[in-house]
Amino acid sequence: MSDHVEQLLDRLLEEHPPATTPHEVFWGAQYDLGLAWVWHPDGFGGLGLPRRVQGLIDRRLLDGGASVENRHINLLGIGMGAGVLAAHGSDAQRRRWLRPMFTTEEMWCQMFSEPGAGSDLAGLATQAVRDGDEWVVNGQKVWTTLAHVAKWGMLVARTDPDAVKHEGLTYFIVDMESPGVDVRPLYQITGEAEFNEVFFTDVRLPDSNRIDAVGAGWRVSLTTLMNERVAIGGNAVPRGSGRIAQAIEVWGRSGLEDPVLRDELLRLWADVEAFRLTSIRANEMTAAGTPGPEGSTGKWAWATHNKAIASFILDVMGLEGTLYPDGYSMSRPPAFEGRSPQHGFLRTRANSIEGGTSEIMLNILGERVLGLPGEPRVDKDLPWKEVPRG
Ligand SMILES: Cc1cc2nc3c(=O)[nH]c(=O)nc-3n(C[C@H](O)[C@H](O)[C@H](O)COP(=O)(O)OP(=O)(O)OC[C@H]3O[C@@H](n4cnc5c(N)ncnc54)[C@H](O)[C@@H]3O)c2cc1C
Repeated sequence: MSDHVEQLLDRLLEEHPPATTPHEVFWGAQYDLGLAWVWHPDGFGGLGLPRRVQGLIDRRLLDGGASVENRHINLLGIGMGAGVLAAHGSDAQRRRWLRPMFTTEEMWCQMFSEPGAGSDLAGLATQAVRDGDEWVVNGQKVWTTLAHVAKWGMLVARTDPDAVKHEGLTYFIVDMESPGVDVRPLYQITGEAEFNEVFFTDVRLPDSNRIDAVGAGWRVSLTTLMNERVAIGGNAVPRGSGRIAQAIEVWGRSGLEDPVLRDELLRLWADVEAFRLTSIRANEMTAAGTPGPEGSTGKWAWATHNKAIASFILDVMGLEGTLYPDGYSMSRPPAFEGRSPQHGFLRTRANSIEGGTSEIMLNILGERVLGLPGEPRVDKDLPWKEVPRG
């Protein structure tokens, strides 16, 4: 880390002592000094430095007693929306949205999936029709995480039904408080409703909320998804921490001496450690800009390990693992912390679905990283309105 960055960090920690400074104020000052997304240009929360420097900055902030929880609280904004604005937004859009996103004063959500379009996202049907300087949106999204607390939503909508499905899409940022936006909770296996259905009825958006060109929605969506996979699966946590630490703790407490389970624990530990080192290497290779398809490797491995470790923990717990201390009365996150291993088991089932399923991650890996032949795509040259839909 350069002397200049060290000095900025010293200044941030001195002028805003983490113990006595409200989080939002600290994060605002961090943004203003260019220490939020260090690879962004000056004036937009960055210093134009390589992306990997951010890891060093965050470690130093944690050591100084600061919180980096905003990256978790506003994951969809900071982990994905910021990358979209950096790659495709105008300066005016970056100026309007980046700072309150980083401070968590304005939460973000992602409105991509629909009842008829998940893995096949480009088949989506929510429509936006131009009306002068505005767009009028009608349709429905589903599985929209944190829509109930979001101020802004990333929306991809169909603007040209006559074009082939990947070309008729446009990307917008929606004010979730607009008239005609209806957010309804979906109750999950864990007893929570962290995601929602979102209905749009004649929702009016200013054209200034459009990201990139009309018809460029697929390209912008890919940027979002690449950032999402890295935000979900690309975080290298310290060795032996996180879910594997919980597995070791539960194993130690159990007093079991079963050699098969012990072998299984060691295998999981080795897998997680190999993944951790691979993530560090991948992060160092991503100098700046939008992450590539390699992010899918991390997302796939993260989901696979999380599910295996959570299952192992329940195996060690035996009958106790069949109880559910968290209860099923509906709660509405963002508070995800401090839950039981049983909650962890149920929640990790979603890891291989959210942010793109594991099958789709393996398809991307096969086609775009290993260069294997693509799967047949029979509808890609048809106008969207002629593609049969269920
Ligand atoms: C906890 C959670 C949070 C989520 N949050 C959001 C959010 O905030 N915003 C948002 O827009 N979406 C969100 N999603 C939705 C998620 O992105 C979709 O569920 C996911 O992309 C899969 O789409 P689908 O559910 O329609 O399943 P489908 O696409 O119908 O897939 C069904 C099955 O078929 C398999 N399959 C499909 N196509 C292929 C193929 N070509 N090759 C091999 N197998 C295939 C899939 O892997 C899967 O097993 C969330 C989902 C979960 C579980």
